[in-house]
Amino acid sequence: MPPPLSQCPAALADLDHASADVVLLAVESCFGAEVALACSFGVEDIALIELCRRHAPSARFFTIDTGRLPEATYELIDRVRDHFGIVVESFSPDAAQVQALTSAKGFASFRRSVQDRQECCRIRKVEPLARALAGRQAWLTGLRRSQSVTRAQVDVVAWDGAYGLWKVNPLASWTTAQTWDFVRKNALPVNRLHAEGFSSIGCAPCTRAVAAGQDERAGRWWWEEPEHKECGLHAPPSSSSAGPSS
Ligand code: SF4
Repeated sequence: MPPPLSQCPAALADLDHASADVVLLAVESCFGAEVALACSFGVEDIALIELCRRHAPSARFFTIDTGRLPEATYELIDRVRDHFGIVVESFSPDAAQVQALTSAKGFASFRRSVQDRQECCRIRKVEPLARALAGRQAWLTGLRRSQSVTRAQVDVVAWDGAYGLWKVNPLASWTTAQTWDFVRKNALPVNRLHAEGFSSIGCAPCTRAVAAGQDERAGRWWWEEPEHKECGLHAPPSSSSAGPSS
């Protein structure tokens, strides 16, 4: 069961229409160093790191190294560490599980079916995420409602029943243009693949560039239908319960 929000020194209850700055100030006050930003190093995460440095300076940062990320993302992670002077904790999949998967099904089983793709995401992403979140009170993500049909109902603050902690999405109402505007105005480092048409970047074999006008996440698992395009890190609203006052 989620703890009552009234226990927090800052009221998280009415943040659904608050600015990202106000949300992060409340997060800092309520969770301090017990909150961590899950970074996949998309443009939203870069904006959020900058905002955390300003308004939630106690927040920690971590990433899931699936073992299949593009080289450009690994390069960006090191540039981000240098630019912001932050520690980015890295969590890797369980080697025995990866070995069992690739031994049984090869190195591209994710193309066979949605179930096979979800199995790979569970081993390479979801299980390491559960370890990364263990013991924390809250996590931050760069989810935005306009990214895709699967994210249209994202709350700013919700109890994440899948992992047992609060989930805070300060950029939920931000547009793509707003996000890029913030990153450019602040001269923040971004993935060089964005300049090659990659709007959303995940694992190398499951990401490709998109054409103008396509959905932002059309290049992720492009062989699947849009409603399946989540890796399991972000449980849909039906499997999370909103907090008592959020
Ligand atoms: S995005 Fe692709 S390679 Fe990465 S974990 Fe999911 S299925 Fe596996």
